[in-house]
Amino acid sequence: MRLYNTLTRELEEVRPVAEGHVTMYTCGPTVYRYAHLGNLRTFMLGDLIRRGLEFEGYRVTQIMNITDVGHMTDEASPGALDKMQLAVEDEGLSPLEIAEKYARAVFDDAEAVGIRPADRYPKATEHVPEMIELTQTLINRGHAYVVDSGSVYFDVASFDGYGSLSGNTLDNLREGHRDLEADPAKRSSADFALWKSAGPGRLMKWDSPWGVGFPGWHVECSAMSMKYLGDRFDIHTGGSDLRFPHHEDEIAQSEGAVGHQVVSIWVHGGHLRQSGQKISKSTGNTIRVPELIDHGVDPLAFRWLTFQTRYRSEMDFTWDAMDAADAKVKQLRRRMNEWAPRADQIGEPAKDYDARFREAVAADLDMPAAVVVVNEVVGTGELSEGEKYSLLASWDAVLGLDLEREATRAWAPSDEMTAKIAQRDAARSAKDYAESDRLRDELASMGVEVMDTPEGTKVRPRD
Ligand code: AMP
Ligand code: ZN
Repeated sequence: MRLYNTLTRELEEVRPVAEGHVTMYTCGPTVYRYAHLGNLRTFMLGDLIRRGLEFEGYRVTQIMNITDVGHMTDEASPGALDKMQLAVEDEGLSPLEIAEKYARAVFDDAEAVGIRPADRYPKATEHVPEMIELTQTLINRGHAYVVDSGSVYFDVASFDGYGSLSGNTLDNLREGHRDLEADPAKRSSADFALWKSAGPGRLMKWDSPWGVGFPGWHVECSAMSMKYLGDRFDIHTGGSDLRFPHHEDEIAQSEGAVGHQVVSIWVHGGHLRQSGQKISKSTGNTIRVPELIDHGVDPLAFRWLTFQTRYRSEMDFTWDAMDAADAKVKQLRRRMNEWAPRADQIGEPAKDYDARFREAVAADLDMPAAVVVVNEVVGTGELSEGEKYSLLASWDAVLGLDLEREATRAWAPSDEMTAKIAQRDAARSAKDYAESDRLRDELASMGVEVMDTPEGTKVRPRD
């Protein structure tokens, strides 16, 4: 598999540090608000990389952090409020309860859109000692300094290559720099906090060698990624907004601490927008998984929708496109049911389609191209039904659309349905069409599709 590496701005072959075993870190959710479809599009990217690599035969270990330390509403202003604290005040729950509530919700939402669980979900609050240790190492190595208030800052000028991920070089930063963290004690306005002293009223705080405080946002991902994946790992993912400052600062921290490159490939996903507006937790313009369900679409169809756009591009969410994706996925499942069972073996034309699908996935997750291959297979007269079934069933390891759902559903009508079917067939033989229609409606209201066949009434589950 080749992936676009934000750091080198090139497509690069995934070559894991350990033969056959890829290690990946995905920046996870902040858990003081619900996750929206944009967040899920980005989490789906990490899962899709993993599915694609496993499809190629790799073993993949994926770590996703949970950001349960509160960070600032606006790092630029001195009056900034801790977002976790705001949620605590709004909801009357403790920080731990808030984090648990929203972490559970994001796990449910992720499962609903077919994101498979990561191997581990380390929480920031459970790794403060590791963050303190990393901060101490950076002080010892001359990359960080303590100021009188008890805050610790990373000295950006001490790290060659700061800005190489985002293109925000120090000169750039100086010119158009918006003060990221206003503290007159900082040596340079571009320096960022590794540790902040706790002001009055701060809820989440810990003891440290520099006094009571709390970690900066970026340091959790350096500490936890290296703790669980070692100081050289293969892939790091996140949304495009995380390139700067979050990932730029993570590189400076991790590499500053160990003295060599840590992450091989940085992958960033484009944002999801709703009618041209960025969906974000702070603007409140968000769509969530439960709204998809209320709307009557299968949340897995959101996957098909996202496959229409390359992961690096921004993408617009519209309900029309969502409905179309839902219809398409349901149609694919129906066709699979018609095509079953799987072919014992597949011929040369089917192998060609398979090679094209695999190549699309391997080419930096070109899912729009993979979708074209799926559509061609559905429409072609070149393949047997069994071959079509075999191909789509195997590709579903990447697509994650539960395409075999109908075909493999062992379904039988309930006793009540069976009784009504018998009554309806009797009414039909007696040419009592009013009664037969009434029974048809009753059956339909039980969630089944009613079909008239030469053998009498048959029912099957409706989507
Ligand atoms: P957060 O919970 O806000 O820390 O975000 C979790 C992930 O979602 C991060 O990787 C963000 O970059 C990503 N993200 C935030 N907003 C969007 C969006 N509108 N579209 C796609 N990804 C997003
Ligand atoms: Zn992160």
